[in-house]
Amino acid sequence: PPDVEVLGRATWTFLHTTAAYYPEKPTPTQRANMLMLLKSLPVLYPCSHCASHLGENMKTSPPDVSSRYGLSRWLCLQHNEVNERLGKKKFDCAIEKLDERWKDGPSD
Ligand code: FAD
Repeated sequence: PPDVEVLGRATWTFLHTTAAYYPEKPTPTQRANMLMLLKSLPVLYPCSHCASHLGENMKTSPPDVSSRYGLSRWLCLQHNEVNERLGKKKFDCAIEKLDERWKDGPSD
């Protein structure tokens, strides 16, 4: 089976980076494709207990694909839910913090 930690880091990197560069005003096609990408995870993600947790969370908290800001924040909250479950520190979901980590790098 895949290494759940290596897979998780790689997947979060892909998802947060893709969210950081998602348009402020996505087209209907971009929204539909992002929604499909996210909805695919509970079906296809190769860590089955991770996938089923995510699927449950997505029922009560559906993905926000309306904007770069909304998507970045939704992903951050989902990731924090996993962090909390694993006893890891929560991340500050302010957009400046997310951009510093996943888009712009530190400003100095
Ligand atoms: P990661 O949690 O992989 O984080 C990588 C980097 O992201 C961090 O160093 C930090 O800079 C940044 N970061 C941290 N939190 C946030 C945030 N909230 N928003 C933005 N950036 C952030 N593992 C399990 O054992 N059980 C599970 O049920 C489980 N479910 C998962 C579900 C999904 C959808 C994914 C993608 C992964 C899941 N994982 C799960 C893996 C787990 O989340 C971690 O990826 C793994 O434990 C490695 O952790 P890490 O400490 O290296 O950092």
